[in-house]
Amino acid sequence: MALTESEKAYHRERYRRKKAEIRAKVRKWETEHPEKRRVYNKTYRDKYPDKAREWRKKSYEKVGSAPALRAYYKLRLEVLNHYGARCACCGESEIRFLTIDHVNNDGSEHRKTVKTNAIYRWIKKNGYPRTLQVLCHNCNWGKRVNNGVCPHEERIK
Ligand SMILES: [Zn+2]
Ligand SMILES: [Zn+2]
Repeated sequence: MALTESEKAYHRERYRRKKAEIRAKVRKWETEHPEKRRVYNKTYRDKYPDKAREWRKKSYEKVGSAPALRAYYKLRLEVLNHYGARCACCGESEIRFLTIDHVNNDGSEHRKTVKTNAIYRWIKKNGYPRTLQVLCHNCNWGKRVNNGVCPHEERIK
């Protein structure tokens, strides 16, 4: 007997819920048995080396090399904290919104000599120059497209 549309929907929904349930169980098991998980992962790697390699490559492309990235975020946080970790214009304090800004708008000159990725290392090495400040990406961009003045400042005046 063929299923009606509503029966089909019911089964689809049941399947979806079941899947979420199983996934949650697996995740719980993984956190409770880190040792076993490691063994399982290793067995999997030995059994399907190609698949494991493919998977590793994919996750590498997604996040970059994890230790290098962690070091980068740590350094970035250190530098931002040194400057107060707050947008000098609007006060935004969500770290992921923040960036380093050149107070005198000489960023393009600076960028020619220091690569973007190396900027935080450069700042630390050079004793946190006062020609730099923290801005959020919004204000940083606003400044860039508005002759060096964030539109926020214009509104206040
Ligand atoms: Zn801002
Ligand atoms: Zn602003």
